[in-house]
Amino acid sequence: MNAQQPRSHRPRAFTQEKAQVLAIDGMTEQLRYLPDKHGDDEMEPGVTWREHVAKGMLLCPMPGCGPFGRVVAGGDRRHHFAHPQGRGGHDHGTGPETLWHLSAKDVLGRWVSSHPRMADWTLHIDDVPITLPDGRRRRPDVLAVSPGETTKVAFEVQYSELTGTEWMTRHAFYRDAGVVDIWLFAHHGPHWKTAFAGQRRRRELLQSDPGWVATVQLGPLRQKMLREGVIPLWLDPTTQTVGTPIARFHPAPGRPGEHRAGATGYDLPPHARFPACHIAADGLERCHVDLETRELITPSRVVQRAEGHRLLADEEAAQERASEATRQRRAAEQAKRREAAARAAAESAEFEKQAKLREEAARAKKEQERAAAAALEQVPLIEQYPPLFDHSDPPSPAKTRWWRPW
Ligand SMILES: [Zn+2]
Repeated sequence: MNAQQPRSHRPRAFTQEKAQVLAIDGMTEQLRYLPDKHGDDEMEPGVTWREHVAKGMLLCPMPGCGPFGRVVAGGDRRHHFAHPQGRGGHDHGTGPETLWHLSAKDVLGRWVSSHPRMADWTLHIDDVPITLPDGRRRRPDVLAVSPGETTKVAFEVQYSELTGTEWMTRHAFYRDAGVVDIWLFAHHGPHWKTAFAGQRRRRELLQSDPGWVATVQLGPLRQKMLREGVIPLWLDPTTQTVGTPIARFHPAPGRPGEHRAGATGYDLPPHARFPACHIAADGLERCHVDLETRELITPSRVVQRAEGHRLLADEEAAQERASEATRQRRAAEQAKRREAAARAAAESAEFEKQAKLREEAARAKKEQERAAAAALEQVPLIEQYPPLFDHSDPPSPAKTRWWRPW
């Protein structure tokens, strides 16, 4: 695919990493993000992350948890904050969800406010609800409002299980409210089910690309979204990466596009009936919101759109080739038909000629017979039929009587 595009986050993205990389700054009460490989560095001029943690000034974002104990930096692991010895992590039931949700909202909020196209927009995190005239209301996780409130973009970050019907209701709500809704799912938990070999549709999934970081199963919710023309996206807030679903399509056997020279397939969004797809990872900072198509555009999505156009162009060219072949075949058939007709006409003329000759010969023969019969009529009967007996009277005495009277 787009191997020429560097993906700085690629090696670590979507590994289901749950290390805590966000902390609440005790001074400002703002969330602070610890970039990878920066655990030993300064948090701000003059203060290192370690020093700040040692002073108890960096708190776990989980409500009621308390300050972190240390910064874990070293080895291959993602640099992160750790709780003090003796105070363990969080309850696995709610911990990951709350943390992911918090991180996701924080990462999105900072991305919107630093995005060149949305720099002058107003940002709301979890506070301003959208209300419809009929009284229905929803509070998006992150809401970006353009100057003059002409455009609103709602970001919904979804960790907990959601049914296709529930999503449809919420999606329709935003559509009715004229708000662009962007859905981002967790890179672990219920929205991230790794797919294994032996899946159906292996032909589409077999050929993978180094830029595709994982292969996940597509549950009913994602399939519903795809049917509605919405491409589901995943967010890994730890690496600030967005995951785009990709499947490699090969033209079905017998279809016109099949015989294209050097065909490698097309990288497109998965079809709704596919049970799995690949995930391509792109840094959030390289994404933007397309207000026209109402979607978050990742670099992988840009490639997908180009691939979609390539597929269309190839199919059109193949169709043209096919119709040209059809035209040529028809012309050849027509020529063959004409030739056959000419041959048949020649044969029939020859047959008629032979029949006429035969007829003439028969007529000549009959004529001959008739002439012979007529000639025969001219000969006296006596000559035709010489007498059996001597009728001379009296009988010639020379002749001996063969009978004698009594
Ligand atoms: Zn904690």
